Amino acid sequence: MEDYPKDLQEFDARFGTEAACRNYLMKLRWPEGFVCPHCEAKKAWAVREILWQCAQCGRQTSVTAGTIFQDTRTPLRVWFQAMWWLTTQKNGASALGLQRVLGLKHYQTAWTWLHKLRTAMVRPGRDLLTGTIEMDEAYLGGLEEGAPGRGTQRKALIGVAAQEDGRGIGRIRLQRLADASAQSLEGFIHTSVAPGSVIHTDGWRGYASVTKRGYAHKVTVVKGKSAHELLPRTHRVISLLKRWLLGTHQGAVGHKHLDYYLDEFTFRFNRRASTSRGKLFYRLAQQALLVEPRTYRMIVDQTAPAAPKHKGLGLPE
Ligand SMILES: [Zn+2]
Repeated sequence: MEDYPKDLQEFDARFGTEAACRNYLMKLRWPEGFVCPHCEAKKAWAVREILWQCAQCGRQTSVTAGTIFQDTRTPLRVWFQAMWWLTTQKNGASALGLQRVLGLKHYQTAWTWLHKLRTAMVRPGRDLLTGTIEMDEAYLGGLEEGAPGRGTQRKALIGVAAQEDGRGIGRIRLQRLADASAQSLEGFIHTSVAPGSVIHTDGWRGYASVTKRGYAHKVTVVKGKSAHELLPRTHRVISLLKRWLLGTHQGAVGHKHLDYYLDEFTFRFNRRASTSRGKLFYRLAQQALLVEPRTYRMIVDQTAPAAPKHKGLGLPE
């Protein structure tokens, strides 16, 4: 059952206390009732309102243990406000904006929170795109498009996968790529697109062997036509991404942290047709409970474009 507030008034009425926020997380994390994360027993008793003691193994668990809310000294109420604000802003939130809205003393706190919440925007075990998928790569960095050649080092190379939906775009996936080699591109395809789908690309040889990986391959090369006419969807996605990075974030996005922003953009884009903003809040809260806790240090030190580690759900990544 998807249960979420429909507007700010409902949000304020529902999540005014720690107990209300905790109960909401309880229902999201254990919809069928408590399950011990250590031994999977279902019997437990409450200790001091916030802990569950397992009747089988005796270990104590809180609803936030092992999630991004673990060890937070901030009231859940404030986390909820941050999630609400982040998901109800049409174009997303900057750290500065969040700091202002929540009245946080330090910019660093707001920045860290946003990054933590972004790690929850990629659904653990999310399903793969199917159908016909337009794929291309683009450089971000100087934020100008179409650098000739595919070996530029100073900029970040992004792989774009856009599901064709008639003349429009269905869902997307974005990923930072080490380079435009067949190995990198096939890695991206493997984590984004279900085998049996059609990969639609230009004539770049990096895509030439996808048919050996279980995909059909459609190549569009027309002399005298620009790439953006041949692959209009991926180009549209890239231009929206650039506009968003320059607008909401004023271009202040380090390469090192680009993955977080790609995740947020994908989360928003794939839910752009959702009529209810409350539903985005619901998804984010739900996914925040599935993501391993990350510290400020872990976020700052991240250098490799690695996907956030999730608890396995036994589903394909
Ligand atoms: Zn147990």
